[in-house]
Amino acid sequence: SDGLPPSYLMSTSHKAHCLILPFQGQSHINPMLQFSKRLQSKRVKITIALTKSFLKNMKELPTSVSIEAISDGYDDGGRDQAGSFVAYVTRFKEIGSDTLSQLIQKLANSGCPVNCIVYDPFLPWAVEVAKNFGLISAAFFTQNCAVDNIYYHAHKGVIKLPPTQDDEEILIPGFLSTIEASDVPTFVIVPEAERILEMLVNQFSNLDKVDWVLINSFYELEKQVIDYMSKIYPIKTIGPTIPSMYLDKRLHDDKEYGLSVFKPMTNECLNWLNHQPINSVVYVSFGSITNLEAEQMLELAWGLKNSNNNFLWVVRSTEESKLPKNVLEELKLTSGNNKGLVVSWCSQLQVLEHESTGCFLTHCGWNSTLEAISLGVPMVTMPQWADQPTNAKLVKDIWEIGVRAKQDEKGIVRREIIEECIKLVMEEEKGKLIRENAKKWKEMARNAVDEGGSSDKNIEEFVSKLVTIS
Ligand code: UDP
Repeated sequence: SDGLPPSYLMSTSHKAHCLILPFQGQSHINPMLQFSKRLQSKRVKITIALTKSFLKNMKELPTSVSIEAISDGYDDGGRDQAGSFVAYVTRFKEIGSDTLSQLIQKLANSGCPVNCIVYDPFLPWAVEVAKNFGLISAAFFTQNCAVDNIYYHAHKGVIKLPPTQDDEEILIPGFLSTIEASDVPTFVIVPEAERILEMLVNQFSNLDKVDWVLINSFYELEKQVIDYMSKIYPIKTIGPTIPSMYLDKRLHDDKEYGLSVFKPMTNECLNWLNHQPINSVVYVSFGSITNLEAEQMLELAWGLKNSNNNFLWVVRSTEESKLPKNVLEELKLTSGNNKGLVVSWCSQLQVLEHESTGCFLTHCGWNSTLEAISLGVPMVTMPQWADQPTNAKLVKDIWEIGVRAKQDEKGIVRREIIEECIKLVMEEEKGKLIRENAKKWKEMARNAVDEGGSSDKNIEEFVSKLVTIS
């Protein structure tokens, strides 16, 4: 409030120095940045390594952590220039190892040498770099523990992904029950799906060499599977990695995310929300990369309209052309209208925190799911691919904080189903337990990161180990 940075930002007496290596994607960078802020509040110096190409696209940069550039071999064009995802990852390994090593050498002469690399296991080569310099290494899994456990068992050959039969029941050790094929991670709509799956499974290939395995979740949320995985790896849950201002409010958050390729939200969204009644708005978003089929967009538009609730729908600019102009007009999805507002991006946390928001219709990306849990918003899930179906299963059956809108045999969720699910979660008696559970988990999420909570203790332990070893 006095305009000065908090004392830990001014402190020169750092206990240790962590080099953070995220995979270069918004939803991988966000949780690692929030974890970094927690470490920094415990007097650990942070340097985040980002590729030159990614840095060029940043619309927002944090003021509280240092950013240094490395190279993925595609400095001008970034990932798109690589031709394929696999080509990108392969070259990143080669060039990234060299440039990361150069960065560590440079920082060694800066008066506060690096002690530890916290890396995204999409980039497992970082372990070798850490070993070469005798540094501590910690893998940071951005997904939840249940999903990591599934990839682990795919790595071990215990289960086969993707499942071959739709109605197959799969027993996953450490998981709460058998799950159906439609609940395990899918890799069906991505070209090169098999190679991506290989990369996910390979996250475990050198995990026996790391000092810590950090997971973006919290103990109370996934006790059973965390206990199970902890017998195999030195697991530490450190989430939710939501900015402190939305949880325990113990940290100074310089900006909500502070590291973004998206434009900050305009006031339009908040002004509109401010004018809606409490718990009256369905917030709809499919995250930063998932694309819907045009037919699905149309069904969604009508489902929202027919549910007769207010709605705030994020349609990214690249998705806009799929919504026919006449439909937009017919539904009057314009900002002046009280029923619906369509925006190309918003500050999701501000929207989820807003008292007008009553439910979240989501693709169940893990960040979105964890944000909804942390802010106590019940969900209608419409998972599309990757780990989203597993997250949706957890939301519906384990935490009981949402419903799943089921696809038909063409893979489309029809308007009637969407309408029915929204009504259940928003207003019907049948949805009461879901709404109550959502509030309960919000409390648990805050407690986990608050002083003495399960994640706070884990972060404390991580820092004291850093200090002992350094
Ligand atoms: N997000 C946002 N504004 C939007 C849509 C998404 O700020 O309009 C953020 C959201 O809060 C979350 C991230 O983008 O942190 C999406 O991550 P998630 O893991 O849910 O999905 P992905 O983008 O990886 O599919």
